[in-house]
Amino acid sequence: MSRDYDVIVIGSGAAGLAAAVTAHDAGASVIVLEADNIVGGSSRLSGGHFYAAGTSIQREAGITDDSAEDMFSYYMTLNQWLVEPAVARAYCDNAAPTFEWMRSLGVQYLPERVYISGIDTVPRGHPPEGEGLAVVKILDAERIERDIDLALMTRATGLIEENGEVVGVTAGDQEVRAGAVIIASGGFGHNPEFVEKYWPDAHEHGDRVWAISGPKAMGDGITLGEQAGATSAGFNRGLLLLTPGFNRDLEVAVPPWCILVSREGRRFTAETAPYTVMAGLFKRNGFVAYAVFDEETRKQADDMPVGPSWTSEALLNYAEQGRIFRSESLEDLAEQAKINVAPLLGTVEKYNESCADGVDHDYFKPIGLSPIKTPPYYAVEVRPSVIAWTGYGLRIGPETNVVGKDERPVQGLFAAGETVGTLHGDRYIGGGGSFGPALTFGRISGREAARHALETAGLIE
Ligand SMILES: Cc1cc2nc3c(=O)[nH]c(=O)nc-3n(C[C@H](O)[C@H](O)[C@H](O)COP(=O)(O)OP(=O)(O)OC[C@H]3O[C@@H](n4cnc5c(N)ncnc54)[C@H](O)[C@@H]3O)c2cc1C
Repeated sequence: MSRDYDVIVIGSGAAGLAAAVTAHDAGASVIVLEADNIVGGSSRLSGGHFYAAGTSIQREAGITDDSAEDMFSYYMTLNQWLVEPAVARAYCDNAAPTFEWMRSLGVQYLPERVYISGIDTVPRGHPPEGEGLAVVKILDAERIERDIDLALMTRATGLIEENGEVVGVTAGDQEVRAGAVIIASGGFGHNPEFVEKYWPDAHEHGDRVWAISGPKAMGDGITLGEQAGATSAGFNRGLLLLTPGFNRDLEVAVPPWCILVSREGRRFTAETAPYTVMAGLFKRNGFVAYAVFDEETRKQADDMPVGPSWTSEALLNYAEQGRIFRSESLEDLAEQAKINVAPLLGTVEKYNESCADGVDHDYFKPIGLSPIKTPPYYAVEVRPSVIAWTGYGLRIGPETNVVGKDERPVQGLFAAGETVGTLHGDRYIGGGGSFGPALTFGRISGREAARHALETAGLIE
């Protein structure tokens, strides 16, 4: 059967655009199918940070001794080896070369902005100037320059298979045939059914859950892959961010000037802990916590701004509206919020001693030590219920081939980006740990899909 293109890419985010441009440069004819009326998906909304080791920007910043080897070691340790090593290794090895490619295309990164983006000690987070949108625009300009076809408002609904090979895509009643297909359709943050099925820790938060992802993050890649016999990985994994749930503004952190206590009435973390570890800590402590502070602290809230939910005026309004708990006594506050009272009283006493000493003896919070002693007292329910990205998805090998039920590649099928479930462990590695792999595996998938398509057409051996 003749083919319309060598390679079809499903999705035009960071992964899909990197794949399309790379496949073209490897000699393939390419089309990108995009469900939305605009390119970019979550990538265009994203910070676009790139987690990588051994980059030219690190060297320009004076970090000369970082390497893919060290990044891999950290990645595996952080995740207690509960990730597929060959895929993690492929990311670590290919991150810096992909990063240099992005630079060569014109994405601007500045040495003074490279930062420690996770809980490691080496600065590996690379924020681009202009955030994810700038990266998407640059990649899309490369696509346009190469005359790579793009079909907007075209949602892939099925894969065409022949003789055990994926040879095309259906979009409603349209068929497009190719030598290889790359699924780069992003995550499933906007699909509540999938959240319930594949991410119970997020589903736990009920109607408090919302996603910051692009509007078409429906998990189509999982459905498409499953039709072709793909296996999946990454059950119950993803990144959840903390929110008091007052609005749908993205506020990644809680204020340093509160204490977070579980329903048991105990603190369980420094309130300034990295966002990468917070959801895991909440899970261990009953999924929900209360930000507790006093009137004096509320009045001074604007001296250490966090976001619109946490201004002194907003907190007062929410208290008036009954959306947060407020009481003249800690005992009554605990009763209202259903927090164990005795441990709460002990926790506050201990915390106030830390405040008096100027040292957080228990959790080493470096800032925000503000005693809780002036009534009224406040308790704000906080949950990790904002979906930043989803971790469950298709299983791939290190060269992005989708893995079938017999542990062999599903012939002709590749995947990259958030639709992939193989890479992430229980802990997010840090800022850039999702956008970086999207670009990196996008590039690998473009190369590999082109190779497969040209080989099966007899154009290369
Ligand atoms: C606000 C925000 C900030 C973030 N900041 C960072 C950050 O700084 N660093 C980091 O590492 N990560 C960050 N992330 C996560 C990261 O941006 C994403 O995981 C990554 O961009 C995903 O890229 P992708 O190409 O896989 O998917 P996407 O960029 O979502 O692209 C997928 C595309 O596929 C399309 N699509 C879906 N289904 C179909 C279908 N059936 N047919 C055709 N097209 C389809 C979608 O419309 C979309 O355009 C952030 C995410 C958000 C939302």
